[in-house]
Amino acid sequence: MNKYDVIVAGGGPAGLMAAGQAAARGLKVVLLEKKHFPARKLGITGKGRCNLTNTADNDKFLSSFGHGSKFMRFVLGRFTSSDLIEFFEKLGVETVVERGGRVFPAAQDAQIVVRSLVNWVKHQGASIRTNTSVKKILTENNTVAGVVVNKSLLSTPARKQDEIISGKSVVIATGGCSYPATGSTGDGYFLAEQTGHTLVPVYPALVPLEIRDDTASRMHGLVLRNVQANIFIQGKKQAQDFGEMLFTDFGVSGPIILSLSKTVVQALNQNKKVFMSLDLKPAVTHAQLKSRIVRVMHQQGKKKLVNILRDFLPLRMIPVFLEKSGLDPEKQGSLVTAEEQKKLRLWCKELHIEISGYRSFDEAIITSGGINISEVNPRTMESRKIKGLYFAGEVLDIDADTGGYNLQAAFSTGWVAGNSVCY
Ligand SMILES: Cc1cc2nc3c(=O)[nH]c(=O)nc-3n(C[C@H](O)[C@H](O)[C@H](O)COP(=O)(O)OP(=O)(O)OC[C@H]3O[C@@H](n4cnc5c(N)ncnc54)[C@H](O)[C@@H]3O)c2cc1C
Repeated sequence: MNKYDVIVAGGGPAGLMAAGQAAARGLKVVLLEKKHFPARKLGITGKGRCNLTNTADNDKFLSSFGHGSKFMRFVLGRFTSSDLIEFFEKLGVETVVERGGRVFPAAQDAQIVVRSLVNWVKHQGASIRTNTSVKKILTENNTVAGVVVNKSLLSTPARKQDEIISGKSVVIATGGCSYPATGSTGDGYFLAEQTGHTLVPVYPALVPLEIRDDTASRMHGLVLRNVQANIFIQGKKQAQDFGEMLFTDFGVSGPIILSLSKTVVQALNQNKKVFMSLDLKPAVTHAQLKSRIVRVMHQQGKKKLVNILRDFLPLRMIPVFLEKSGLDPEKQGSLVTAEEQKKLRLWCKELHIEISGYRSFDEAIITSGGINISEVNPRTMESRKIKGLYFAGEVLDIDADTGGYNLQAAFSTGWVAGNSVCY
């Protein structure tokens, strides 16, 4: 039977960091990854460029974790974003800082991050076993004893065989359940429940939103920049964001939609009514826009309305606006009434879109919910219930905004676990 000091379940950024750190301390470490190669999700992060972390100050960094900020204060206190940047620079991965403090590898290639991390783990002496899925945590007297794995047989990969691997410590770093094709299918929740841990219900987060009517699908592919999205729940404004979004065949997506999605998903799950009011021209007030519309209709009085609208709306939006507002596209500018001008102003400043749902885990950047963090010691990442059992990464009930915070959380929790096991 194989015997290790440390068994790491899951070869994402959290598991790789934990395995490498533990091996660097001279411990005998095995990392078990169910896919044929580790860190498949890391390889597609940041649209293939990998937004590793963020240079935001401590307060901003912590606030991005919402309810998890108190827990993350301890974790980030031990392994900061500067530590992560330095860690990768030592591996030869130079980084650059972009808009909003987002840190990327200078080579703009997530695969470089994956390769250097995996090579570093191997170089520290940890073994990496792929095609090996952890299916049970073994315990004796509330202390970890090892794991049961299900491994594909090389000769006939369709056939699988169970094997026991014993170890003094186990780190569960199996991720959440978003983008399941990358291997993150929520196994860690099941493993944690087997050992008496409780789960905070999981939902897709940083996820595109659905719209019931055809407003969005008719503008499919249209990107809006410098717009403000305001979210109203049961008629009360609850959140807003400014930046870029896009219409899709099912609804809306893009940076500001993803960051607003958490508030929306929570409300929809409570059967609350949610609508978004889009301000296409946040730089001007209603009064300023009103006088501009009057002026343009007058100056271009002989032109058809459908052509004048190019001054106010993106091309793809014009037919939708005309149909929804019932305005005559052939009407001359000078004949457009004050009431019709008001319809255009309200479309520009308060475009009302009812949100009917959200996309599944297949399209969610992260998972909100997970292993209850009150059952994990943030100074060590050790379970408060089972000695020798540790958690790292998205499997925990920790999630943050976009901007590199989620990867930093995975790396920092992995670092703390790897430096705490077997003490
Ligand atoms: C498209 C996309 C883009 C993203 N871009 C960014 C970004 O730019 N910046 C950012 O900060 N965050 C980004 N994220 C989020 C970030 O990728 C995750 O938060 C992070 O990968 C979580 O790391 P993890 O190690 O906890 O889990 P994961 O990366 O999910 O890794 C878990 C690993 O465990 C393995 N595993 C699962 N079950 C078992 C089992 N039973 N036995 C053995 N192995 C198992 C899986 O195969 C997987 O390899 C993005 C996410 C997605 C989906």
